Amino acid sequence: MLARLSRSLIPAAKCAVSLSSALESLCQPTASIPGSCRSDPGAVYSGLVAPCLKATTSILVSSTSSSPSFRAVSVGFHDHPNLVIPDYFTGLGYILSVQAHGSQTLLQRIKLLALYAKICKLSAPLVQSRPPTTVQTLWVNSPHVADTRVVLGSSLAWLKVRSHFQMARAVRAGILRDLWAGALIDPTPMQVCFPNPEGGLFGTCWGDCAEAISISACWKLVASGVPLRTLAVNVAAMNAVDLVTGLSACDVILASTSLREMVGELLRANAFRPMCKNCEHLRESIAANIVDCATSDFWLELGLVTAPTSHSLLPHVCDDVFERTSSGKRISCAV
Ligand SMILES: [Zn+2]
Repeated sequence: MLARLSRSLIPAAKCAVSLSSALESLCQPTASIPGSCRSDPGAVYSGLVAPCLKATTSILVSSTSSSPSFRAVSVGFHDHPNLVIPDYFTGLGYILSVQAHGSQTLLQRIKLLALYAKICKLSAPLVQSRPPTTVQTLWVNSPHVADTRVVLGSSLAWLKVRSHFQMARAVRAGILRDLWAGALIDPTPMQVCFPNPEGGLFGTCWGDCAEAISISACWKLVASGVPLRTLAVNVAAMNAVDLVTGLSACDVILASTSLREMVGELLRANAFRPMCKNCEHLRESIAANIVDCATSDFWLELGLVTAPTSHSLLPHVCDDVFERTSSGKRISCAV
């Protein structure tokens, strides 16, 4: 599955026509995946992704009326019968999510996330957008629940027209509010934590994070307390090209067959992004059983990283990564 997706999407991702064609072939009814009958990638493709590529925009806003009208697509996405897909990058994640089927290893999940990060970066100019800051994946991790579904979601990429950005943000916040209105406090925990020096609200709003999509797509699993895992990575760090090797972390991970090598590469690239305080608050408020794989505890338990020492192998790991979480700690690679 990964090789097929990489072969079709990566060479096409710098050209709107080629990418649109490659995505269309993934969304054909004949390409439907067993177990994905509740999804409708064709609707996301024809109603959002293809028009975005054609119109070179990451969201669809009607410019004919005096008050701009926002156009999104609502589809079945795993547990959610009618999840709103408001922007190009979320649509891309949806199409990739429903391609994944069958049991997957952690290594395969990270590869799919890396592919998503790479396609977001390569295709962002096609929709005249910056790429999203982070991409994230969520999956079931329980020996008692045979559920191989995966969600890929992205943070909301900045849009040049501020009012359009706010429309897209409002849609994503509304997805969360429809499910867990009581959990969405105002100001958000990130706004409390990072106030504007001038006194106004500044920090991350509800709807900005990838979790607005992924946790909502799996809301029944969340509500039933099924153990889930999440992993978020920074798109810029994943796509930064190493001047010595000429490869990005995405390239290395997509070619790798070793989980240990992948984790080392993610650390070297400073790509891990632990949950922000908004998402930590949401997780606690809705009693979601979600383990964050972007924190040190997860990889320490797997024996793939070592506890920090005064001679860290990764002195360039920035503190700002760990400011996003109260539980994240500096980690270094064991290899
Ligand atoms: Zn967050």
